[in-house]
Amino acid sequence: MCIIKNNYSLKKHNTFGVDTCAKFYAKFSSNKELLTILKKINTDKVTILGGGSNILFTKSIYNTVLHNNINGISIIKENKSHVWVEVGSGENWHDFVLWSVKHNFSGIENLALIPGSVGASPIQNIGAYGMEVKDSIEKVCTIELESGETKNFNNKQCKFKYRESIFKNEYKNKYVITKVIFKLSKTHLNITSYGDVENELKNLKLSINPKNISDTIIKIRNKKLPNPKKLANCGSFFKNPTIKLQDFKNLKIKYPKIIGYKIDEKKVKVAAGWLIDNLGLKGYQIGDVGVHKFQALVLVNYGQAKGKEILDFANLIKEKIKAAYNISLEIEVTIL
Ligand SMILES: Cc1cc2nc3c(=O)[nH]c(=O)nc-3n(C[C@H](O)[C@H](O)[C@H](O)COP(=O)(O)OP(=O)(O)OC[C@H]3O[C@@H](n4cnc5c(N)ncnc54)[C@H](O)[C@@H]3O)c2cc1C
Repeated sequence: MCIIKNNYSLKKHNTFGVDTCAKFYAKFSSNKELLTILKKINTDKVTILGGGSNILFTKSIYNTVLHNNINGISIIKENKSHVWVEVGSGENWHDFVLWSVKHNFSGIENLALIPGSVGASPIQNIGAYGMEVKDSIEKVCTIELESGETKNFNNKQCKFKYRESIFKNEYKNKYVITKVIFKLSKTHLNITSYGDVENELKNLKLSINPKNISDTIIKIRNKKLPNPKKLANCGSFFKNPTIKLQDFKNLKIKYPKIIGYKIDEKKVKVAAGWLIDNLGLKGYQIGDVGVHKFQALVLVNYGQAKGKEILDFANLIKEKIKAAYNISLEIEVTIL
């Protein structure tokens, strides 16, 4: 059912717990409802909202907030090796991972416990523990806001990169993702080399399969990451920056413990959390905003912080990183 509200608080719709007001808010559960709403609003001024776990509201929203609630999971095709699954964009991401694991399919099990909706998963090509969603996406189905027409994007057209896609940049707020078609594998991918996954599985004497991998990752994440329901946050606030191999080598002389992963012969991805931690900023706090005590990449709202205060704090961290290492950190979270 379509729900429409004026001057509606978005506090419970963003995991930073920021109290922002939407001048006009509309929640839709089907393409038909979305199209009805689009006929009534200025489609140039729209903010699309999923679970609000990757958004920082820094001001009141005078745009129309379109809140997606399209549900449904169904298998639409299969062969010996794969299955194609059509998922409504408003489905909870983690619930879909559990569904996939329950059916013994592989491809997204390492992405367990990432908050948010299925529709937002392609936006920044969510990734964790050696897996990225782009490797399991066949097609992204959308409705163009301006024309109300349906447009489907195949994997290549989505221009997926590390925490990026065409929808996060060129097509931001131009298309509402309504469905995602996933191609999941019947063969187990068994990616366990990242983080503590392999060790945990060994310690618990568990065999390697999607269910055990996802259970283990849930356990690790519950230990490591703050639960937004208890301590407001948006997960990693910054992206891991990519720098030139030579610059990394120079930094390594000064900071022998710096963490980086070689991308190719010329570039290295540096662990932004290490850069922040190394400056002693874990637990650093101004007012109600802080760097998490154990996860340097996570900024937290301890209570009543305003979005602007969180953004100012993030910019201060960026300045400190630039001054110390001459590296420009990029914000991962969508700032509105
Ligand atoms: C504790 C915690 C841990 C996290 N861990 C990870 C992690 O390991 N890996 C990772 O990649 N991310 C992680 N995140 C970030 C976040 O969970 C993901 O980015 C998630 O996909 C956001 O989903 P959402 O529905 O909450 O999106 P929202 O925050 O509602 O929206 C994010 C962006 O997508 C757009 N959008 C949302 N839905 C649609 C749609 N249907 N059509 C078009 N545009 C849309 C919005 O306009 C916005 O620009 C974490 C967040 C938290 C709080």
